[in-house]
Amino acid sequence: MITQGLIFKKNPLYEKCPSCSLTGTLRKSRPRKTVEKIVRTLTPYGPYRCKKCGWRGYRSRLVLTTQSVKNGILYLLMVAFSAFIVYQILKRFV
Ligand SMILES: [Zn+2]
Repeated sequence: MITQGLIFKKNPLYEKCPSCSLTGTLRKSRPRKTVEKIVRTLTPYGPYRCKKCGWRGYRSRLVLTTQSVKNGILYLLMVAFSAFIVYQILKRFV
């Protein structure tokens, strides 16, 4: 797992909206699709929605420092691999 101190938690609720650039308009969005639930569980990303312009997308809840980029890439590869496996399994049953 990633060493403590190399990764910081942040709150996307205080970030700028990527669409209308307003601050404080993002709200947590309840995952609607199974895919969104999987993304939320396996990655630091969660679904968010802008209450002003209606933008909807994923925001990271963690910030990586430069020292942790290597660890982060490894972690993301593992996450991507897990997500790929889950996707393959889901595809078979849906
Ligand atoms: Zn917006």
